[in-house]
Amino acid sequence: MFSYNNYKEIIQIIKKSGKYSSFHEVKSSSLEEKRREEFILMRHDVEFSVERAFKLAKLENDNDFCSHYFFQLTNNAYNFLSRKNIDMINEMINFGHKVGLHFHLNDLTEIEDIKKQIVKEIQIMSEMLNFKIDSFSIHRPTVGVLRANIKLPGIINAYEDRFFSFTENVKENPPEILYIADSKHRWNYGLEPDKATLMNNKRIQILTHPYSWTPEGYDNLNNFRTLIAEKQDILIETLDAETKHFKEIRDAL
Ligand SMILES: [Zn+2]
Repeated sequence: MFSYNNYKEIIQIIKKSGKYSSFHEVKSSSLEEKRREEFILMRHDVEFSVERAFKLAKLENDNDFCSHYFFQLTNNAYNFLSRKNIDMINEMINFGHKVGLHFHLNDLTEIEDIKKQIVKEIQIMSEMLNFKIDSFSIHRPTVGVLRANIKLPGIINAYEDRFFSFTENVKENPPEILYIADSKHRWNYGLEPDKATLMNNKRIQILTHPYSWTPEGYDNLNNFRTLIAEKQDILIETLDAETKHFKEIRDAL
């Protein structure tokens, strides 16, 4: 599970379904239109590793598929604004992928404050990338944030009601738009993007986290082991590049 071969199979099914769409292509202004519309959206929230997101984007590109990557600006494990990451993100945009903000609430709870901060972070990202960012998804959204159905002029919210059905009780009130997510390194609620599920549902949003996906398709333990090793390599590269005295002791580590 969560191997590149596994991911390629999912892409093939989505392409065959004829329902693949970007967030920007979903129209549906009225409820009736919305119910007639069919789509499968592919969203990636980037939590820890721009490198793994870049590799997944490359895999998609090799398979003639474009999707939507959401990055955090205030992440503690990667720096969106580093030159290396900006270069990778620009290359992803050149591949044809869409890039948006994966907004970390950082303890904000007031909807008006959240809206202002989203606009501010989108502006910073756009300026640094030299590319207009016009979409966001919220990292670990609270019920209050989902219920608020945040809409900002000219900006797409991956959790707004065109793309996501917020329901307080999934059993009593099943969502009209199917939501399939790989959170916690497993397919949540037992829902997988397999052929039957993708063919038999009219409107679907799939969320994956690129750090969960590797060529090998590791289990949870080995996925984290390899992720930590990759992050360590990046720190060592940085220490090497930015100091002289690291080299003196590097072999003794
Ligand atoms: Zn997240």
